Amino acid sequence: MNSINDVNFKGKKILIRVDFNVPLNHNRQVMDDTRIRESIPTINKVLNDGGTVILMSHLGRPNGYEPDYSLTPIVPVLSKLLGRNVIFTRDLFGAKTFEVCGKMKTGEVAMLENLRFYKEEEAGDDKFAKELASLADAYINDAFATSHRNHTSVATIAKYFKGKSYFGLLLEDEIKNLDKVLFDAEPSFTAIVGGAKVSTKIGIIKNIISKVDNLIVGGGMSFTFMEALGGKIGDSIIERDKIELAKSIVQEVMLKGVNLYLPTDAVVADGFSNEALTKVVSSDNIPNGWMGLDIGPKSCRRFAEIISHSQTILWNGPLGVFEMQNFRQGTKSIAIAVASATISGSFSLIGGGDTVAALNQFNLTDQMSYVSTGGGAMLEYLEGKELPGIFAIRGPHKIEHSAKEKRSATKAPKKK
Ligand code: AMP
Repeated sequence: MNSINDVNFKGKKILIRVDFNVPLNHNRQVMDDTRIRESIPTINKVLNDGGTVILMSHLGRPNGYEPDYSLTPIVPVLSKLLGRNVIFTRDLFGAKTFEVCGKMKTGEVAMLENLRFYKEEEAGDDKFAKELASLADAYINDAFATSHRNHTSVATIAKYFKGKSYFGLLLEDEIKNLDKVLFDAEPSFTAIVGGAKVSTKIGIIKNIISKVDNLIVGGGMSFTFMEALGGKIGDSIIERDKIELAKSIVQEVMLKGVNLYLPTDAVVADGFSNEALTKVVSSDNIPNGWMGLDIGPKSCRRFAEIISHSQTILWNGPLGVFEMQNFRQGTKSIAIAVASATISGSFSLIGGGDTVAALNQFNLTDQMSYVSTGGGAMLEYLEGKELPGIFAIRGPHKIEHSAKEKRSATKAPKKK
């Protein structure tokens, strides 16, 4: 799949789109270098082949040139991780950039300034793409988290590198792992979907219904389902305009023979606060004046049991307001259940900013088979959408059936 492992970059100058959109503190120091560290294998592959590297990235959402969004703070961190000097051009298209990039020698690494200082980057501009492309012989996209955007450096640019555009190692890994759950999941396949709103997860739910055996719905979004099924949800979060949609999902789930699991009990509070009074009640009978902020202990045990029998687990969205100590237990017990299933040999794929933040909080990130780096990009990929940054390199994704669909297609027809 357009892998850099199948290519030798000796003597070539390679433009790599990385994702150095890292958090900085008020002194403009890098607070978390994960994204920089993750780009190192791809950079080193090119360098070890005997190539030259030109890096490009965005940082934040500047409005034109704003010094606070300069990539300057990344340079020393990257340089240390690579163990070599990094030339910073301090510009994208100044004469200096062309001069510096033109004179680069084998084994050198240069980094361009923030792509988003130019409005053309987000506009997917053709001329901008052509100018960037003129800097190098080949192109690698290793910025999965930005690949759902139709931006110049992740999408438009690839056409100027026909037959010479590749996926970086990080991006390739993301595609392999996401494809594994979408098309090659071993049964039983359980998806756990949580978080605040149905509206942000509806795309995923619709796309995976035909692929999963079990669908666990938790978090704030479960109350829209509960209301749709005639339950009493008190003051819990709800999207009234999504009740009909929830009903149609319940019907589809039944039609497809998927087991749908909603929480049976809830930790409710008399206010949205860690200091609020709490109690555990049945999730379809929450009194007025109380809101469900976590799944209850019975639901935790039931969900953990299902997870323990699952060979493939996909999890996106916390099961409660894990940011508050008193409503963290549901998300934590699911994280522990997924971790132990993974230790026993199941494949687990986790994604979404809040879910990953929760795993980090519980120190369980390393216990999962794969944790996706792309929030929005991962959601769109799991929704079955074609991501512009991936499409630009490999072309249209061939329609594939999930492992479950393939299994049911090969089953012998029933005797009449
Ligand atoms: P999302 O971005 O849709 O994955 O939602 C994540 C957010 O959902 C987190 O900030 C959680 O605090 C929140 N959340 C989870 N469960 C609930 C709940 N029962 N009520 C309100 N918010 C919730």
